[in-house]
Amino acid sequence: MSHKFFVPAEQIVSNRVTLTGSDVSHIRTVLRLKAGACIQVIGGSDKLHTVRLVEVEAKEVLGEIIASEEFDVESPLAVHLGLALTKGNKFDATLRKSVELGVRSVTPLITDRCVVKTHRKKTERWKKIALESSKQCGRTQVPLVTEDIETLEIFCRNNDDLDLKLVFWEMESNSSLKNLQLDQAPRSVAVLIGPEGGFSSVEIEKTREHGFQTVSLGPRILRAETAPVVALALLQSLWGDL
Ligand code: SAM
Repeated sequence: MSHKFFVPAEQIVSNRVTLTGSDVSHIRTVLRLKAGACIQVIGGSDKLHTVRLVEVEAKEVLGEIIASEEFDVESPLAVHLGLALTKGNKFDATLRKSVELGVRSVTPLITDRCVVKTHRKKTERWKKIALESSKQCGRTQVPLVTEDIETLEIFCRNNDDLDLKLVFWEMESNSSLKNLQLDQAPRSVAVLIGPEGGFSSVEIEKTREHGFQTVSLGPRILRAETAPVVALALLQSLWGDL
């Protein structure tokens, strides 16, 4: 399988593809590809293009599309994850796994019991992680990592119109994904996962006011970096593409 690159849709005009920025240095200095070599390009759609390099210059690489194929690996279930900030690089690792598990967007959250209080924005790093992870797992869409670190209230409001809204809570003893009463399978779901200290009861009430349902992931308490993986895998298995 040849090397895969994501380019913004506007960099594909007719059958011509323009690569810029770090893709150019990767092609020139890491892969040492010359004109005539072929790469794979995904341009913001569910098409995978085979592109033959035409010009490999210092600032720009031009290619022409020689073949395209439908390439749909995006889940039919749009999962929008609200993920409380966690210590160390756990958030980065959880973000990578969430991308592999088909998440549509990730919103970093500051909640009452977040140990991490820094607002030092790591958004650019998280966006890079989302892009690299999408390339690694072969997705055609890069999940959105929201610009700002948000509050629970804003996340709930921004996801008010989704089909299903779930807050995973270790104190929930009755409701699980298996016994949710739903009229039909959801096509979009908002998911809330708390920090190492969990959600406060005030936060749980606030999410309920916004129509979120508390859901258990079983009798054991999962780590803040384990719970999102389990939740996403179960959701994709029930209503997505796992
Ligand atoms: N407050 C917990 C404690 O007393 O140790 C820790 C919270 S847990 C480390 C972090 C997050 O994972 C929770 O906020 C919740 O969203 C999710 N979680 C962990 N175990 C869960 C379970 N059994 N059911 C539902 N959610 C769970």
